[in-house]
Amino acid sequence: MEKPFAIVIHGGAGTILKKDMTDEKEKAYKAKLNEALQAGYAVLESGGSSTDAVIEAIKVMEDSPLFNAGKGSVFTNAATNEMDASIMEGKDLNAGAVCSVTSVKNPITAARLVMEKSPHVMLCGNGADEFARENKLDMESKEYFFNPERYQQLQKIIKSEKIQLDHDHIEDDEGYLIDPEKLKDSKYGTVGAVALDKHGNITAGTSTGGMTNKKYGRVGDSPIIGSGTYANNKTCGISCTGHGEYFIRKVVAYDVAAMMEYQHLTLEEAANLMVKEKLVEFGGSGGLIGLDKDANIVMPFNTKGMYRGYKKSSGETEVKIYND
Ligand code: ASP
Repeated sequence: MEKPFAIVIHGGAGTILKKDMTDEKEKAYKAKLNEALQAGYAVLESGGSSTDAVIEAIKVMEDSPLFNAGKGSVFTNAATNEMDASIMEGKDLNAGAVCSVTSVKNPITAARLVMEKSPHVMLCGNGADEFARENKLDMESKEYFFNPERYQQLQKIIKSEKIQLDHDHIEDDEGYLIDPEKLKDSKYGTVGAVALDKHGNITAGTSTGGMTNKKYGRVGDSPIIGSGTYANNKTCGISCTGHGEYFIRKVVAYDVAAMMEYQHLTLEEAANLMVKEKLVEFGGSGGLIGLDKDANIVMPFNTKGMYRGYKKSSGETEVKIYND
């Protein structure tokens, strides 16, 4: 019997409220999530690697202004775009990451480049952009990343000392926000994908523009191996989204894998314990996607919603936004 294969993706977690979503927007998000899933799944179906599948799925979301990654990245306090991305292969724990890049069109491809073509795991800032340029990745100008809606988001928040998780707009009992008045329009998010291929290999990747109004070179969890991204064929692959400062200190992605390895929890038990208990107690808003070697999938979050979806070789597929 052919081994199961599958892909799961997210487009960020946050306070995504039905009342603020038009039918048209919801359709656009779901269509893009489906397109990303399909791009990744097609790679897996044709016998391609989980790494290629993750790259293809994430590129679709990075190229869309709907998500806070690549083209849709949020603005820093200095009105620049600084993007972070990471990727990890569960076969041999190979990994690559970039942070604070400003010109790479698809930061996830730069993370892969670091993994495959450098002796390092993480490159930062100008050096990372230069490495990508030297290796002929597609580069873009500032104008490409300029998004008027995002710019407005920054203008609304810039006078405050707050930073804003992109897809949140108002938090009540469960969140880490900030100023409801200023956060009206933000419903976008970091993107991630985890895939299991026909050869039993798991890859996880995450890409983000970070948080609106971030300053001083702030970097979140997304490019940190073990926090925002982790993969190990023995256990699972994980990609996170949420308030990075909390995810870094909880080493979220690795901790889920560790609970499976050392405590023999299932993926579902470990992921739920992390997102619904440990992170909540710690004050960390967000969610994650995970996939294990048997193609079990989890997509827990402790916010109002998370853009998410999966497609399995068994035929099961789903794309969702809210907590339903
Ligand atoms: N985790 C990201 C960060 O803190 C933000 C997000 O998931 O939207 O940079």
